Amino acid sequence: MRKNFVLHILAAFILAVLAGWIFGERAVVVQPLGDLFLRLIKFIIVPLILSTIIVGVTGAGDVKKLGRLGGKAVVYFLVTSFIAIALGLFAGFVFQPGAGVEVAVQGEAVEAAETEGVIATLLNIIPTNPFEALTTGAVLQIIFFAIFMGIGISLVGEKAAPVQRFFEGMAEVMYKITGIVMKLVPLGIFGLLAPIVGTYGASVLLPLIKVIIAMVVAIIVHVALVYSTAVKTFGKMNPLHFFKGIFPAASVAFATCSSSGTLPVTMKNTEENLGVSKTTTSFILPLGATINMDGTAIYQGVTVMFIAQYFGTELTFAQILIVALMGTLASIGTAGVPGAGLVMLTMTLAAVNLPLEGIALIAGIDRVLDMFRTSVNIVGDASACVVVEQGSEPTAQKTA
Ligand code: ASP
Repeated sequence: MRKNFVLHILAAFILAVLAGWIFGERAVVVQPLGDLFLRLIKFIIVPLILSTIIVGVTGAGDVKKLGRLGGKAVVYFLVTSFIAIALGLFAGFVFQPGAGVEVAVQGEAVEAAETEGVIATLLNIIPTNPFEALTTGAVLQIIFFAIFMGIGISLVGEKAAPVQRFFEGMAEVMYKITGIVMKLVPLGIFGLLAPIVGTYGASVLLPLIKVIIAMVVAIIVHVALVYSTAVKTFGKMNPLHFFKGIFPAASVAFATCSSSGTLPVTMKNTEENLGVSKTTTSFILPLGATINMDGTAIYQGVTVMFIAQYFGTELTFAQILIVALMGTLASIGTAGVPGAGLVMLTMTLAAVNLPLEGIALIAGIDRVLDMFRTSVNIVGDASACVVVEQGSEPTAQKTA
């Protein structure tokens, strides 16, 4: 079954490229198929996160254990993101994508993304109205609410049993719905990719081909070195098994350019194909889809080097360090939605006084870069699950 599914996904990729290539811009007629799939997976997210986290927390039994799990995951997120941006910078240095490029800067003034500051951002994780968080889909706030609901249910005990049972049932229902929607993955990939292949011409891609190559090489190194080593050494899992298991989610991320949108598929793959417990996935994956973005970090490294080279600015070592730190922070702040990384790049550029117009240079190919970075983002999240799961005792809800 699973093999067939992977074959269907591959077929969808090939058909999408062919359709885009043959029909060019007319391939947009299949866009509604892509949108249909996108809407279907997005509609699962909020109830899925809410119910699975509540069930995960009540199932974990012990709040301390959950804290350890989260703590380990956050350390893993930070270390891998930092390595990712370092690799991106290095690839930008080696490939020199910005040297001798002829692309016009067409943008007018671009404004740097503003953040509210660390304290305000952290405080903002606490929803003043959890129902508002649910209706607006504020993932971190929903995670916060769900964790507390889970803790509350565990502390109350017997009287809260109906609430617990309700969310257990709800989580099962959401898994079922995810399973049904997953059957449409090949169709969705076709509907999303064919129009992209059809609309992107060689004239847009070729001048910036070195940026794409530098990023793809950095990605391959990151995936092959960091994830393989991490899942093998800390997760005691064969890397090939890992990559095969997460492939469907990675391809959905590639087509949708949204880690958050891919979340239901990432959860399903991580549980069913990689055998990670629901307690771990329900907690780590929504968090990872929101704050852990290795692909975006790599992208920041490569594009900052590109923009510096294009404008003939030599970055000092101190500036490179600032980029590495800011880029890691920016990748944490990036939302798991299409194009968010491009907006956050302004923060990193501003930190080292590079012209924000640089954004306009890569905007034309950003969708293509987004496909690659989003896939890496979710593979990174899944690798975190495999790594932290191994260090914790088996939980009540291990998926069979
Ligand atoms: N599209 C990316 C994601 O959802 C974020 C980004 O634009 O870098 O993971």
